[in-house]
Amino acid sequence: MSVVMQTNWRSLAQSLQPRNQAFIGGKFVDALSGRTFPTYNPATGQLITQIAACDAADVDKAVQVARRAFDSGIWRDLKPTERKAILLRWSQLIREHLEELALLETLDTGKPIKESVSVDVPSCASAIQWYAECIDKLYDEVAPNGPSSLVLVTREPIGVVAAVVPWNYPLIISSWKIGPALAAGNSLILKPAEQSTLSALKLAELAQQAGIPDGVFNVVPGLGPEAGQAIGLHPDIDAVLFTGSTEVGRKFLEYSARSNLKRVGLELGGKSPHIVTKDADLEKAAMYVAYAIWYNMGQTCNAGSRLIVHRSIKDQLFELMRPWARRLYPGDPLEPTTELGALISAEHCDRVKYYIELGQQEGARVAFGGRQILQETGGWFLEPTVLENVHNDMRVAREEIFGPVLVAIEYDELEEAVAIANDSEYGLAAAVWCRDITQAHLVARQLRAGTVWINAFDHTSINAPFGGYKQSGHGRDKSLHAFDKVTELKTTWVELH
Ligand code: NAD
Repeated sequence: MSVVMQTNWRSLAQSLQPRNQAFIGGKFVDALSGRTFPTYNPATGQLITQIAACDAADVDKAVQVARRAFDSGIWRDLKPTERKAILLRWSQLIREHLEELALLETLDTGKPIKESVSVDVPSCASAIQWYAECIDKLYDEVAPNGPSSLVLVTREPIGVVAAVVPWNYPLIISSWKIGPALAAGNSLILKPAEQSTLSALKLAELAQQAGIPDGVFNVVPGLGPEAGQAIGLHPDIDAVLFTGSTEVGRKFLEYSARSNLKRVGLELGGKSPHIVTKDADLEKAAMYVAYAIWYNMGQTCNAGSRLIVHRSIKDQLFELMRPWARRLYPGDPLEPTTELGALISAEHCDRVKYYIELGQQEGARVAFGGRQILQETGGWFLEPTVLENVHNDMRVAREEIFGPVLVAIEYDELEEAVAIANDSEYGLAAAVWCRDITQAHLVARQLRAGTVWINAFDHTSINAPFGGYKQSGHGRDKSLHAFDKVTELKTTWVELH
């Protein structure tokens, strides 16, 4: 029997004592101000714990210890094989603490325990492992400059890096920043989203057990406008790796301009189109369209949130999606068979409901779902929803809803579908469903998005870069390209004659 079926999650939840202090310089500490903020279980609405609310003073303290650790060379000057061994030990410890980490993630975010166990924790461990394994395999360059000089191009760690992350995939997204930043030899300060701090603090405990030197990995929990802003404005942070909304991403560029021009990597929002042509394998497309919008309750940056479907097959596709809407129905996240959990907060649930209402005012019709459910639990659950009769100029087609709400737009000619897909301020991901692979490639080439799937959606691997075009951000997470955000290239010119 699998871990998810074997474990009694409710009794484990009762015995769990989540850490709630910041982790700075190798110590778990309260915020200097002594202030805290609450974190709630989205599936019950109940308080889990109060967490240290770090502000500018705590961020400054974390930057000082991170800088000292960096300058001392205690981490960046380790032999590559030694740094690799420590990171591998950390990833192994993450795997060994699968149940606890998965439970923390589920209690804090409302995502199904099945997903936390099978996706979130293993992906986090694998990402750190992957970057650890890169450390002693990356070579520097010699520029081809003729016999009279030796021109070395070497990659160096940038220094003190901060990662500011959202609540939808706390462990996974953190690992995409931690992996390259620490593998390259930097010091890192992680600021989790205020809704989802618990797993980051457990990661810190395991980092210390693995042997990561004090000051090299720090966690400063806190509110965005306090801890987040202090990171953005700090004059001694060299790079910020941000994942979150486009609105806050824009602020990080301003913070950088107003402070020390720190490098800013941005992984932002999306409104990713899913083009289904009349030649598509509709059964397969129906399953993927359903998962692409409803997985993680639609709280996924690259959720396939705009269905652009050929008019002649829309009804057929909807019929094929109905069984998926029934199967992907929300329930108690601690139940091992639950496929969809809760939305992150009451405010967020209200915001998604507002969009369902707005869509109808704009002329859309609810084709599936549309209601809040399971109110008796105290949690925040919504039915898998589809709005039809949507036009791409409606707000529900242009703005990121970040909930389980698909908008369906019909088209007649393929050029029109491509134009609709590209008519968005976002460009994170897209998909095209078409059996004619040449046609599919031609469409993929025209789509302005960081990832384009052909006859698939959300297939992903740590060795493929991930990031956006347009206002979905810049820079790439995952793959070797992620090192670009956390390293400097140094040219050392040696004159030989
Ligand atoms: P958010 O932008 O509100 O918050 C993200 C982080 O920024 C949090 O840690 C938060 O505390 C911090 N923050 C908030 N306000 C701040 C401020 N004024 N100054 C500094 N920091 C601040 O995003 P969210 O609601 O946590 O997450 C949802 C968003 O994240 C969606 O837009 C989603 O598309 C995006 N996202 C993008 C990706 C990607 O890889 N492109 C992945 C996941 C989520």
